[in-house]
Order: sequence, then structure tokens, then C-alpha cells
Amino acid sequence: MKRLFTGLIAAAMLFSLGCTPAGAEQNPDEMMVTVIENTPLVEIESTPNPEAVAPEETGYVFPRADKMNQARNQNSDVVGWIYIPGTNIDYPILYGEKWYYADRDINMEKNSIGSVYSHLNMASYEEYGVSQNLVVAAQNARVSGTLFHQLHHIQEVNLGQTNCAYRKCGMKLDPAVLPDLTTPEGRTWDISICGIDARWEVWSMYEGGPNMKEELEYYNTWFILHDRHIPKTEQDVQEWIDDQLERSQIDFGVEVSTSDQFLTLYTSGDNKDSDETHLFFFLKQVEPVSVKFKGGLISGIQSEG
Ligand SMILES: [Zn+2]
Repeated sequence: MKRLFTGLIAAAMLFSLGCTPAGAEQNPDEMMVTVIENTPLVEIESTPNPEAVAPEETGYVFPRADKMNQARNQNSDVVGWIYIPGTNIDYPILYGEKWYYADRDINMEKNSIGSVYSHLNMASYEEYGVSQNLVVAAQNARVSGTLFHQLHHIQEVNLGQTNCAYRKCGMKLDPAVLPDLTTPEGRTWDISICGIDARWEVWSMYEGGPNMKEELEYYNTWFILHDRHIPKTEQDVQEWIDDQLERSQIDFGVEVSTSDQFLTLYTSGDNKDSDETHLFFFLKQVEPVSVKFKGGLISGIQSEG
């Protein structure tokens, strides 16, 4: 427990320093390879402002960069932004100790639904080396229809349903507007998290539970509080991938490997008014392609014993 606490403090310090727009500088290898692949004529040396040159290096510009920067000026706990076209999911991602933002807004004011926030295991990224699976959660705000409620609309319309299953919402689900997960365009979303500005492709999605915290929530998010939920080897990661592919309610046919950078989104279920069921979306970084875990950086994980 003491070790965990120390880790949280250390990670909090790291994140207060590192999880900013400058966070891209933490992955020099990633940026270097991207430069080689996409822009042979590098103009970095002739440009004094590194922020201005960054989009040219990657060929990718995060479409909500301005909004994200404004939000970060409002609260330095903003560590990213999530934008899903065809939905009202267009929010800053906050990070605070434990579940600080699960019931607070961006101004740190208490409210009933909280914010979109990165998971507790954000604090473990540096300590445990589990940054291969970034996690973003938000409440299924059924009454207001905000935060991650419309993840359910995406799920339901892609499973052929015509109206939201939550009876108090009941919104008509328009397949022409909501993301079509059967196409790469529909299932690839712009999300910035912890210095990674990128497009991420959904490769697995399902709703599960109830009463499966260990098997679903902790396992899916590589939860740090119990060491057994953190993959120790590349084979562990492969088994996790295989499990998620097998559980997915749609066969996306997306190729997934242990070299991928993952992002797991989740919210509570619609099929009962509790937090006991959860809806998960598993994504991988596709543009720019991450090279961070190429060759299995996962071997750097130290077991807590
Ligand atoms: Zn709804």
C-alpha cells in the first residue's frame, strides 16, 4: 500500500509536469519515425517555434486543439479532449487523484455527473509502465443525455436498434448521423490524451455485467490496485486482445497487435440503473501510428510480487 501511495504521488508529479501539450516531447522516437515516414523534407531547424512545426511533422492536426488549449487554460488538470462526430461527445478529459472528476466539473465544482476523466490507473503509467492502455471514463448521464450516454446510441444503432434503450431518453437513433462502426471512417475518432494527438480506431465493443468488476472493469482497464490485472508479458497482452476480440458485439475485422497503443473508453450500462454493468469501447492509435510499443516495451513492467 505504501508503495502504491508513493507511486501515486510520483505519478501525480510526473503528470503535473508531463501531461501537457509538451508531452509529445516525451516520445522523441515516435516523432522521429513519423518525420522520416511522412515528411522527408524536414524544416524543423528553420522554424523557431516547435509547436508551430508539430502538425507538419506528423501530418495530423488535432481538430479540437484550440478548444483543448482553452480548457487547459481554465484548468491545468485537462489532459486531453475527446470528439466523436455525429454525437454530443465533444469534451475535455480531466485527470485528478483517484476519481476526483467523477463528480466534479472542469471548475472543480461538485456536480452530480462529473466530467469525462482519465481513470485512476493514469497514475500508474510511469510507475508500472502500463501506459499502453490509456483509459477514459465518464458517467452514463442518462437524464441529460450528456457525457458518455451517447456511446450507448452508437452501440445500439450499430446493433440495429431504432431508439435509445433507456426509456426516459428514447431518442430516435439515426444511422445516417451516428457513427457507422462498419466503416473505418465511422469507427475512427479524434482523441487527444496525455500528449498524444491522434485518430483512434475501434476494434472491439461490448456491454457486460452485472457484478463483474474483476472480470470486466479491472481486467479491461489494467487496473493497478490489484497487480494481477496488469499484463506482465507480451503474451498476456495478446491474451487480453484475444479476449476483447472474442467478446466484441461486432466483428470489426481490425488487425490488432501487442505493438499497438490502446485506448479504452467506458461508461456504465443502460440496462439497469446502477454502475454494475459497463459498456466498453477498445481503440488503437492509427494516425499518426504509434511506435512506442514496437518490440514489446511491455517487458519493462516490474511485478509487485
Ligand atoms: Zn439515449
